[in-house]
Amino acid sequence: MKKVLNKKIIIIFIVSLALMLLVASILLYFFLTRDKLVFKLIGEEVLTLDVYEQYNDPGIQAIIDKEDVSSDVIVDYSLVDTNKVGTYEVIYKINYDKKEVQLVRTVKVVDSESPVLTLKGNEEIVVEEGNVYQEPGCNAVDNYDPKVNDKIQIINHVNTNVVGVYEVVYTVVDDSGNKSSITRQVVVKPKDDNEIDDYTSLMSSNQITNMSFIDDGVYIEGYVKDNNGSFKIKVCKDNKKDCVNYDMNKKDDYYYYGNIKLSNLDNGTYYMWIESKTAEKVVNKLDMQYRIVRAKLNDKLVTFNYDNDNVTFIVDDFAYQYDILIDPGHGGSDPGASNETIDEKQLNLIQSLYEKERYEEHGLKVLMLRNDLTYGMTMGESTWPAVRKKAYALGFYGVVSKITYSNHHNSSLDTTLSGWEIIVPATSNKEYLSTIYKISDRWTNTYNTLEEHTRVYTRNYNTGTIFSKENNDLYYFTDYYAVLRLPYQLFNVNNVLFEGSYLSNKADFEWYYTNNNWKKLSEDKIRTYVEALGIEYIEPK
Ligand SMILES: [Zn+2]
Repeated sequence: MKKVLNKKIIIIFIVSLALMLLVASILLYFFLTRDKLVFKLIGEEVLTLDVYEQYNDPGIQAIIDKEDVSSDVIVDYSLVDTNKVGTYEVIYKINYDKKEVQLVRTVKVVDSESPVLTLKGNEEIVVEEGNVYQEPGCNAVDNYDPKVNDKIQIINHVNTNVVGVYEVVYTVVDDSGNKSSITRQVVVKPKDDNEIDDYTSLMSSNQITNMSFIDDGVYIEGYVKDNNGSFKIKVCKDNKKDCVNYDMNKKDDYYYYGNIKLSNLDNGTYYMWIESKTAEKVVNKLDMQYRIVRAKLNDKLVTFNYDNDNVTFIVDDFAYQYDILIDPGHGGSDPGASNETIDEKQLNLIQSLYEKERYEEHGLKVLMLRNDLTYGMTMGESTWPAVRKKAYALGFYGVVSKITYSNHHNSSLDTTLSGWEIIVPATSNKEYLSTIYKISDRWTNTYNTLEEHTRVYTRNYNTGTIFSKENNDLYYFTDYYAVLRLPYQLFNVNNVLFEGSYLSNKADFEWYYTNNNWKKLSEDKIRTYVEALGIEYIEPK
């Protein structure tokens, strides 16, 4: 009985299961065979357009029950304004299954066009040393930003006190962040190499047209209009009793040239006289186109004085007053080369102060042309450009210093430039250069990574041409930089410019300054100079 009951239950269970499966299958059939909707965007879901560009809809695909109903789709792109930067939506709608189905495409209208910059005035502007550079400005036009012209930034490191080629960079960023740059070159050319252009018109008829120190005296060149066929220069003490006569060579009817030896004169103050047919004429400062100042002439120190109308010079026993004269380049309102991290004037000072202290540890006497961020010591006529007054002071004290140098640091918009440069006087002799080569050899060693731009060179003042000095060559032309040129011309002093590094970018700065490599370069210099003075080098503590 129990077995029969069990059998019935099983049959009922199987039948119900079959019925349930049947219902499920019917439902599934209806579900699968009902109208199907395919609704999708053609093209990108997010479209980017340039401002003012026309919006062309890439289209949409709509299929219901295998039938293409794309043309029934309502496209609404009324929200898109391509004249205005922004993010917009295009909405696609279709009715399906008694409901509205919707798709959205995002349209981004962007401004990717950079402003156009045009220079006012020439691409290259030439300014004479000491004159003012007048900024002509620049124009900016942009496709979208109407106020772009007000956003021009001008980066200008032109220093008309220092001869050289500079760049003025104009940069503008429009409202949408598009950047443009344009560059102008400013060439600061040397003043006409005539020391007295401001009083040329006052000159008298007897002129000294050239004067330079030689080892034991002065080379002199000039003319006397009223001469008697022979030319004579007389050097006398102020009482006009102790006179020395120098016969000059005749160049032509009016011109003479020759040397006057001064190193064997007794100490004292002297006047110079030029002999003419009718009279002897005391040399007036207005007669001198070329005002040499002071120099070591063998064992004598000879200093010319232009304080009064008549030129005098003082002969005295020579003695060095300093072992080292350091000119920390630039200062005051002249920051020197600029870079992202530090003003050159500041770096030059840091390095110079370090070197001063180190020389003093060796018992040496050091003079610095400045000890702070001011422009420091200057000399000469008040109307001169600052750089000339600085060069003059450098020569004046350089005469009584065994070693004279200027510390500088380079910077360039061309950030691929790196390494050191040493700029020497064009006329420097081989003995002097041998010390410089020792320093350059040591610098090359210290520089083991950033060596692409290492060089010892000099420049032609008239053409700006750079000449390598690596071959021990001598060039007899005038120096490019006032701090090299004037100390040599007016004081017989050989100065040298050390450009320890290019510091155009952060990588340079980190290698050089943060990692203390500047101290290594200083030590190379200190070791060489200390040894040149015959002193044993002491390592830094
Ligand atoms: Zn400099």
